[in-house]
Amino acid sequence: MSSKFTTINPATGETVKEFPTADDAEIAALIEDSATAFQTWRTTPVEDRTPPLSRAADLMDERRDELAAMLTLEMGKLPDEAGAEVDLCARILRYYAKEAPRLLADETLSPNSGGQAVLKHEPIGPVLGVMPWNFPYYQVTRLAAPNLAAGNTIILKHASNTPQSALAFEQIMTDALLPQDCYRNVFADNDQIQTMIADERIRGASLTGSEGAGSAVAGGAGTNLKKSILELGGSDPFIVLDADDLDAAVEAAAAGRMTNSGQSCIASKRLIILDDSYDEFVRLLTEKMSQFVAGDPNDPATTMAPLSSEQAAADLMEQVEDAIDHGAQVHTGGKRVDRPGAFVQPTVLTGVTPQMRAYSEELFGPVAVVYSVADEDEAIALANDSSFGLGGTVVSADIEKAQRVADRVDTGMVWINQATWTEPDLPFGGTKRSGVGRELGAEGIQEFINKKLIRTP
Ligand code: NAP
Repeated sequence: MSSKFTTINPATGETVKEFPTADDAEIAALIEDSATAFQTWRTTPVEDRTPPLSRAADLMDERRDELAAMLTLEMGKLPDEAGAEVDLCARILRYYAKEAPRLLADETLSPNSGGQAVLKHEPIGPVLGVMPWNFPYYQVTRLAAPNLAAGNTIILKHASNTPQSALAFEQIMTDALLPQDCYRNVFADNDQIQTMIADERIRGASLTGSEGAGSAVAGGAGTNLKKSILELGGSDPFIVLDADDLDAAVEAAAAGRMTNSGQSCIASKRLIILDDSYDEFVRLLTEKMSQFVAGDPNDPATTMAPLSSEQAAADLMEQVEDAIDHGAQVHTGGKRVDRPGAFVQPTVLTGVTPQMRAYSEELFGPVAVVYSVADEDEAIALANDSSFGLGGTVVSADIEKAQRVADRVDTGMVWINQATWTEPDLPFGGTKRSGVGRELGAEGIQEFINKKLIRTP
């Protein structure tokens, strides 16, 4: 059997386990089950919808090591990072378990023409989630926790290389006593995804992943007059405005670039440094990046895990080689790591110009591009010269100046003096080709909601 849904250990290339794709009859039954479960779940008071989320958080704590090990096996995440992802999911689940009643409370309006009006937050129905492999539990939790609390049901189609992580998450929901069929995993192909989106009973779709996949899912949703949320790629700027603490800035930039071996949508991908600090920044960053040790993620000496697949490593190398061929300078790295597995050396590039793919494309791996700029205005212009608009960082000892610059950066999120990250209560999402809509926070929980107006004279 050769299946689309397969666990392949990226550190060794070994095929570990395969799962069959659902057939069309199973997809039809799944939609019916989800729609049926919704009829009960929607009328369950929010206070009764949240205890399964709390129990799921407890189960994540209890199963932390085995859940983390599954990430390491399927997509190569370092054990510490994998454990931290499980912890983050538990925090998200607890946050919505506690705060959903407040976030979904009726809103009283004061109509200009007098009388009363109330806005109710009602669920809309089964929502289809399509998720990527880079944070296999976090991406799912980010959609599932707020939406289950809000009264929607979820059908989750995970990435084809993380099937066991997908099943482990579904098992947590079952063991947390979430009512049957409120959360279901499905191993579906792209045509079946379109079938589900077109089905009248599915009321929305949320995709985290690439632009192509986003366009396919949003296209299907648009054709069928449904809402879609898109969390897509990014090429986040990391702007250093002054050199007050260059060591800390380099530390944050390297951490921001190298999280998850560089495979993060919100990684600090374009490091934009004012002239005064540029040379020293490049020197320090090069030193820092050369210190990463590539290896089997289960080896305690390893500080850089493999990329998720051989294809991912080959794609990244094409972008790096294109830059080198067109005249970019390599300060460290620039090659595959000489060992088996999907490894690319931690790389620092400068001299990248708009003619190179590395200027405009997302670099989804351990490759940092450093630019020098003359002043604040040039930094902002370069930061905004991107089709992406996900996150970004501004570094300065002068917080007001950093906030002023942050206001002019055209992205969905800007973090000051730290690499962009995510927190359970803060809205996450981008602008431009990085996405549409938000997940998490009050904004996230209200995306797949009918804000129903009740007007009383
Ligand atoms: P991807 O290829 O788009 O895959 C993401 C999901 O979409 C997978 O489940 C994939 O299924 C599915 N998919 C692919 N093509 C599809 C299509 N035509 N129709 C329906 N579904 C389709 O993305 P990736 O390369 O795995 O993930 C990396 C990308 O995700 C990067 O660009 C990254 O920046 C972005 N990302 C964004 C965020 C965010 O929050 N903004 C977070 C994480 C990652 P298969 O696996 O079965 O192909």
